[in-house]
Amino acid sequence: MPATHEIIFLGTGASCGNPSFYCGCAACEEAVANPAEAKTNSSLAIHGAEMTLIDTAPELRIQFAREGIHSVDRVLFTHEHFDHTGGLPQLEFMVRLNRKTPLPIYALAETFEPMKTHFDWMWDTVEPHVIEPFQALEFDGMSYTVLPASHCPGAVGFLMQAGDWRGAYFPDTGPLSTEVLERLEGIDVLIHDSTFIGRNWTEGTHSTVEDTIRLGRELGVKAVYLAHCTLHYDTPTPATALREQLAQLDTGGMQVILPRDGDRF
Ligand SMILES: [Zn+2]
Ligand SMILES: [Zn+2]
Ligand SMILES: [Zn+2]
Repeated sequence: MPATHEIIFLGTGASCGNPSFYCGCAACEEAVANPAEAKTNSSLAIHGAEMTLIDTAPELRIQFAREGIHSVDRVLFTHEHFDHTGGLPQLEFMVRLNRKTPLPIYALAETFEPMKTHFDWMWDTVEPHVIEPFQALEFDGMSYTVLPASHCPGAVGFLMQAGDWRGAYFPDTGPLSTEVLERLEGIDVLIHDSTFIGRNWTEGTHSTVEDTIRLGRELGVKAVYLAHCTLHYDTPTPATALREQLAQLDTGGMQVILPRDGDRF
């Protein structure tokens, strides 16, 4: 873990969430019976002296209330999809009433274009900074390198570095390019799209639990975190059962973690 920062999983689910209101599978039933296993849409908070967010999930207000977060200093966006940007308007009145100056937000031009249309009424409360693939940003003692993901136009992940700790966050991606994989060599922690279990319904733009574990082994990381999980598809697997399966795997000492919303490291 980074010595100077705490990383908080605000949400660990895919867009359907868990439980899904239209699904009665064993994974959803478990999440209803035990809300600790419920999954809101994926977003990460990086807390040093300041608070940096990666993405704003539609459940942002609920996530912040749960974690006792009262303000944000900036937001980095991975891509424009609603499950990653839909919570931005919930920051409008933090800016208007408390902060008083526009909130810096960072994304590729392809991501800002639709966001500006969707959130036109509140666009005066943000200060957009257009970023480019392979650009390195530095905030609050953590560096963030923008790395292309395989998902939709403008989709990226971030390589994060603080001191001698290095981790990567790719909530939505299919296979990564060789150029990106080279940048990830030697990272300590991989937090990666694990939308599916078994069959990949959207080969090329999302990944499976198995893909994430394989990639973690290839990169030689100390720990992989299974992010953006549905748990419904293709084989509905309750979180407890998945953790039991993961514990049986021979991963050569690499930790494989199915995080819960609110987990921190
Ligand atoms: Zn997503
Ligand atoms: Zn379900
Ligand atoms: Zn997406």
